Amino acid sequence: MSYAALDPLDVAGRVVQLLEAGRRNSTYKLATVMALVDICVENTAAPDGSLTVPIDEIAQRIIGYYWNQVRSFHRHGRLVQVRRGRSIPDRIAEVRDILISDGLRTAEAARESAHPVYRRLVRSVRLTIAQQPLTHLQTVPHSAARDEFLYDAAGFHKKMTVSDVDRIAVIVLRPGVPEGLRRTSVLLRTFVRSVWAHDVIDLNRAELDAEDVDGFLFGTDRTALRALVDPLRDLQSGRCFYCDGRLRSEVHIDHVVPWSMIPIDGVANLVATDARCNLDKSASIPVQDHVTRALERQFLADISSLTQIPVLHKRTASAAHGVYAALPAGSLLWRSSGTYQPHSP
Ligand SMILES: [Zn+2]
Repeated sequence: MSYAALDPLDVAGRVVQLLEAGRRNSTYKLATVMALVDICVENTAAPDGSLTVPIDEIAQRIIGYYWNQVRSFHRHGRLVQVRRGRSIPDRIAEVRDILISDGLRTAEAARESAHPVYRRLVRSVRLTIAQQPLTHLQTVPHSAARDEFLYDAAGFHKKMTVSDVDRIAVIVLRPGVPEGLRRTSVLLRTFVRSVWAHDVIDLNRAELDAEDVDGFLFGTDRTALRALVDPLRDLQSGRCFYCDGRLRSEVHIDHVVPWSMIPIDGVANLVATDARCNLDKSASIPVQDHVTRALERQFLADISSLTQIPVLHKRTASAAHGVYAALPAGSLLWRSSGTYQPHSP
């Protein structure tokens, strides 16, 4: 079968088809698709329209998504994400406890630290995602039907070893796929999130509220970022990043590029705001000036060494670039409480 460069909407349509087919035994395929979407938003394709993606990078993104999800969900405790057996989230939960006690509170902080415990986790997660979601993503469950329109999965199989994964090392997204995933990223992310929340409810066999589960799975862990309140308030001379009003007792830490668009807990993407601006902005994409101002701030490295939360300037900048590039002209961007303006690329 040949794979002519696909139209962006066709890419999205076929990804949705793949995820709709059959019953899943884990949320790994969803995490993998989410990782591919995020990687395509943050990276530029090669001149022929393809994109080479290290399996290592996919593994680290997946660790990033599950990192907050392994917290206790109210009185239910940790949510189950596989039908049986020891899961990737189980391994992450163990490592997360160790790293948090070393002061590394976020997945990115762990990643930047290159802590040996974290590196071992990446190797183990990398093997599991090669054996499972990367092997099975493009097959229809319980059939031999394969539709390898995303990447060539030759060499991937469920018994592959660490040295097989070392040898293969990357997947190459076919020409048109990176552009397709990037252009439809908002739609795909929303779709994946809703299926993911639905699967978690199904896997946990409990009466869980879908909206509650979605907020928990894809919301940020505010406690991890509390350390930033004082340093960011000082940096902003005690004023809200967005409206310049005086910050009072209730200071919020806001992700300038919304966490729900791209989960980046880097100081370059975080600002101190009052409750009004933070709650009004919510998951809206801000006007580009706000992102530019956030990226141009000085002393971010000092705040990072004080709080052990990495700066992630380059990632924030390339994610923002990808988010705005994928946004249709005329989309409303948040400027200030109650004020929006249309996107003009
Ligand atoms: Zn404000």
